[in-house]
Formats: sequence, C-alpha cells, structure tokens
Amino acid sequence: MAAIICYFAAVSAAAEEDNIKNFGNIAAGMLEMLDQDFPGRETGTASADACADWLEGQMNSFGYRVERQPFTMPDGAAGQNLISLKTGNSEKEILLCAHYDSDFATHGADDNGSGVSLVLETAKRLAGKSIPCSVRIIYWSGEEAGMIGSKAYVEQMTAEEQERILCVINVDSIAAGDRRYVHGGIPQEDGSVSGIWLQKLALEISEEYGLGMTTHPGIGGIPAGTRVQGSDQMFFAYRGIPYIYLEASLYSDQDGNDKPHRVQTADSRVEGGQIMHSPWDELEKIRSLFPGRAEEHLAAYSRLVYRLCTGLTPEGQLLEAVEETEAVPETTFSAETASDTAAQTAPITETGLPPVQTEKEERDTATQEEGTEEQKRPIVIWLAAAAACLVFAGGAVAWASLKRRKR
Ligand SMILES: [Zn+2]
Repeated sequence: MAAIICYFAAVSAAAEEDNIKNFGNIAAGMLEMLDQDFPGRETGTASADACADWLEGQMNSFGYRVERQPFTMPDGAAGQNLISLKTGNSEKEILLCAHYDSDFATHGADDNGSGVSLVLETAKRLAGKSIPCSVRIIYWSGEEAGMIGSKAYVEQMTAEEQERILCVINVDSIAAGDRRYVHGGIPQEDGSVSGIWLQKLALEISEEYGLGMTTHPGIGGIPAGTRVQGSDQMFFAYRGIPYIYLEASLYSDQDGNDKPHRVQTADSRVEGGQIMHSPWDELEKIRSLFPGRAEEHLAAYSRLVYRLCTGLTPEGQLLEAVEETEAVPETTFSAETASDTAAQTAPITETGLPPVQTEKEERDTATQEEGTEEQKRPIVIWLAAAAACLVFAGGAVAWASLKRRKR
C-alpha cells in the first residue's frame, strides 16, 4: 500500500512542478508574435489597428467576446480599447489590464508587448474556470501619449460600474528590467496610504512562491511602495480604486543610488539604463542582453496574477490555493465565455465573430464536449495508481504461491 501511495504522490508532485514551470510559456509565445508582427504600434497607425484585430482574434479563440471602445487622441487620431469580461461567481470585478500601443520607433517588446502577453496568458488560463470574482480584461491604447485610452474609460464609467471594481491589476513593461516590482497604494493628504491590501497580498504571494518581488523604495517625494503615476492605473487611483502596478524596472542609477524614476537596468551596455522607448526595446536585443530574463519575469508575474485572479474574493480576501493538479472544479460557462473548442469550431458569422450563444446554449455545448486536458489529468493519475495496485497485488500473489511451493 505504501508503494502505491508513494507512486501516487510522485506523480502528483511531478504534475504540479510541470504546471508551475509552465507559467509564462503562453505569454512568451504571444510576446514573440507581438514583437515580430506588430512593431511600432503607435495609436492610430496601421500596426496598432492590426494588433487590435489580432488581439480580438486571440481573445475569441479563448472563448471571449471583445467590445471595442473608440476614443480620439489629442492629435485627432482614432484609438480603441479592447474590453472583455470573464464572469465569475460575483459581479465584483478585478480589472486586469495592459496597454498594447507602443512607441512608434520600437518593437514595443518590453513596453508593452510583455504586459499584453501576460494578460493574454491569464485570459486563456481563466477561460472556463470557476472563480470568485469577475475579471474585466482590457487592452488599452493611447498610453504612450498620456494614458488617453484609460482616461477615456474612467471618464465614461458610470457610478455602478465604478462600484463594481474591486481593484485594478495593471501590467506594464515586465520583460527587461533588473527587478520585479509590485507597486500599490494611494497616498492621502494626511500622509497615510490607502488601498494597500492588494499590494500586501501580492507581496505575500511572492514570498510564498519565491517570486522575488519588491516595491518602490520611497524616494523623490513618492511614498514607499506606491506608484500612482507612470501608467494606466493612474486615473483609477485618482478615483480611490485600489491597484497594483506590475513592472520590471530599477529605481536606482548605475552607481546604485536610489532614484525616484525608473532606469530599468544598471547594465552599462544600456545607455541611461532605459530599455523602453529606446532601440533596445526589441525581443532579440533584450534576449541578447539578458538571456532567459524575459521568460523568468513572465513566469513569475503569470504565477502571481493567476493566483490573484483565481483566489481573490469580492471582500478582498485571498482563498486558499486550489492547485491546478487537484480536481478542477466543474467547468461553467457564462454568457461571456465559451470553451476554446466551442470558439474554434463555431461557425463564423458575417461579422467574422462566432455567433453569440445564450447562456443555456453555451452550457449545453459545454456539457457535450469532452473533458479538457486538465480534467483528464486526474483520471490518468487514478488509472496509473490502479495499474500500480494491480502490479503490487499480482506480485504479492506470486510471492505467496512461490512460498507455498517451497514448502
Ligand atoms: Zn508602457
């Protein structure tokens, strides 16, 4: 019996390790495509528009519907945010976001193909999962010109929509910088900092999984831990909405002196330490500078964001981790999501989108489908355990009969 238990534990542990190692893999593949196929994604350019179409296609293939929110740039160019909803067990929403526009002269691999890739991976992992909160997934444009896309979203948000937001997770430039940061908290006039619960949970998760994350050193008039400005969390923070801002960066200069603004790297090959908005912001160059770094950062942030999106309750508590190797909860499909298979095999309508199914139709489709790989895994483990059992029993019988024959 002990042998069987050992065997079962070994199989489970191996499966779990595989799962953890796999974090970041989907994002790394997405990042390669963004870097190669859509360089110079400045808002209003053909590259940005093509990228938006590609993003919508990816989200559709995971089973999400995408809504486009158009807005106008200060120079008159047309921008658009892409918005999807993963319906959870509560109306309360985690807003998970990244800007897909980039500097016109770069590939925008770090800034912000990396953040977009991470959100894509998380969206794919969450599709079809039962989770406590809903997750609103948004790809912004217009960030490089002053967060124009997220500003448009916040300004058009109704009071009810604002009330539904539990927190914002904004991912911007996580592939290249020296350190992994989790900023959060909103400085108040009396010197206190509000809304730090989310950052606190994130840093605890980092500790638990050994993700090596840190936060703003608190210099240059910026209270420690916080970073309201600098990316799309800003207008949400101005409304008092708790946020975390994830970025790989470095808040010190090449001599090790703390600096209030990011330099990203202390590597002397990078002049001024800045990869974003410079010719270094290309995946091949980032990889030649720092082999393996982009992949490690993506894996660590993917682990963190997945843990938050699957574990956060509407009250802002974190549920115990349900490891992916354990039995996956019954797959439920909401009006906003369908399974990968359903989306891929669905007939295409004139609009080029899969037809919208009612909630009941989706549930029917879902129950007709075979189990996913994750659902099949426990069955495989049980079969292996049963086989081990048979071998063990067979051996015991053979041994007993051998003993009897000797007598
Ligand atoms: Zn950015």
